[in-house]
Amino acid sequence: MANPLYDVVIVGGGVAGAALLYSVAKFTDLKRVALLEKYNGVATVNSKATNNSQTIHCGDIETNYSLEKAINVQRTAQMIVRYACQLPPAARDRLIYSFPKMVLGIGPQECEFLRQRYEQFKPHFTGMQLLEKAQIADIEPKVIQVNGHDRLEEVVAIAVLGDYTAVNYGLLAQSFVEQAQSVTDKVVDLKLGSLVREIEPVGEHYRVVTPDGSLMARFVVVSAGGHSLLFAHRMGIGLEYSCLPVAGNFYFTPQVLNGKVYTVQNDKLPFAAIHGDPDITMPGKTRFGPTALPLPLLERDNMKTLVDYLEVLRLDRAVADVLWDLFKVRDIRNYIFKNMAFEVPLLNRRLFLQDARKIVPSLQLEDLEFAQGVGGIRPQLIDKTGRKLILGQAEIDPGSGIRFNITPSPGATTCLGNAEQDLLRIQQHLGCQFDRRWFESEQVAVPE
Ligand SMILES: Cc1cc2nc3c(=O)[nH]c(=O)nc-3n(C[C@H](O)[C@H](O)[C@H](O)COP(=O)(O)OP(=O)(O)OC[C@H]3O[C@@H](n4cnc5c(N)ncnc54)[C@H](O)[C@@H]3O)c2cc1C
Repeated sequence: MANPLYDVVIVGGGVAGAALLYSVAKFTDLKRVALLEKYNGVATVNSKATNNSQTIHCGDIETNYSLEKAINVQRTAQMIVRYACQLPPAARDRLIYSFPKMVLGIGPQECEFLRQRYEQFKPHFTGMQLLEKAQIADIEPKVIQVNGHDRLEEVVAIAVLGDYTAVNYGLLAQSFVEQAQSVTDKVVDLKLGSLVREIEPVGEHYRVVTPDGSLMARFVVVSAGGHSLLFAHRMGIGLEYSCLPVAGNFYFTPQVLNGKVYTVQNDKLPFAAIHGDPDITMPGKTRFGPTALPLPLLERDNMKTLVDYLEVLRLDRAVADVLWDLFKVRDIRNYIFKNMAFEVPLLNRRLFLQDARKIVPSLQLEDLEFAQGVGGIRPQLIDKTGRKLILGQAEIDPGSGIRFNITPSPGATTCLGNAEQDLLRIQQHLGCQFDRRWFESEQVAVPE
């Protein structure tokens, strides 16, 4: 059939697009939905397991989250766990993992900050515990012990011990697609190797153009990472935004941690403090990172996206002002320089070691191995009108049957929550049924 008409076309087969495909197929009465992904598999960019930190962010150990943000994120994080727990146990266990997790306070200032935060958050996060040195050592001995002695600094931790804390977002995306395609009374088309070149309005609909032809959509959702903004700009939408892509690198060490160990974030640099995590794709290793290096690319290791980035940057006075304002802050400036130094051979491991030793003080240089080919890019938006960097995710919705999602972090954790928001807009625009009960369920799934 030439130019088939779909109710919803989703551009981008990362975990965000896949979660929406699943949600449209499962919870609406819409009959025709398609997902277009330019590569030959889903979740090969930021949602690939090796390209992110594999954390289910709940805001309990992420000290840059306000209580309000944490409560919101926790709700969407629970959706992922609930989704996985409704699968057969073997499938569930490939997707989500239960590791202890904690955030460390080191030194009197950070310890006091964590003690206060614990009192504020505890009523909303019932599994939260405040651990003193000896209790931390029971769970993570290498965080406390150096050469057979306890480290000297004051240390406390906020910990959550019995939850699902890690997820393979790549496999989660694949699972969403499989579940969507198992819905029998609908057309659920997955079109891999379909590079979307253009989206153009045609009457009340949109034409989505690929090299192999085009298809028509009553509603389009673009969840194509940094490329979402590029599509918006090309349609004259979201021109008030520019983009600052921030790449993250990691280092492997032998297994020195049993779970996820975060550190207190600097207010001015909310994603800068590194953490140590078990890598679910590399049993027996601990992964430290990420670093945060501004890179002029929309996709890591894809030099072709340099041109796309220059188009999306739309460098003008407002963008230059935001970047300059960031650079003027001493902590941020030093951090940028440090992250540039992280790229200098010989110096990089030594510098990174200093940061990693905050978590495991006994680490040695020879323990650190640069994680080649690991780590993605966060496309952080610059708000030109408000003259500031937007640190979380953003959606651009002109209200005309198209939506653009830009999901730096914690966009993988919030994939089902974002799908819910997309569906509310789709429902409003198309007047379809949306059974929201599953999203609103308060049932909390915990490891058996
Ligand atoms: C270092 C790092 C650590 C992170 N850690 C975490 C974490 O622990 N927890 C968490 O929740 N989040 C984390 N994130 C963020 C998380 O990875 C992203 O929010 C999430 O993967 C975004 O999913 P997405 O589907 O929006 O984008 P992506 O996974 O990037 O998918 C976008 C898709 O769009 C496709 N596409 C692009 N252009 C086109 C086109 N023209 N036509 C067709 N398809 C196209 C791409 O090929 C890609 O498959 C981290 C990110 C980084 C960089």
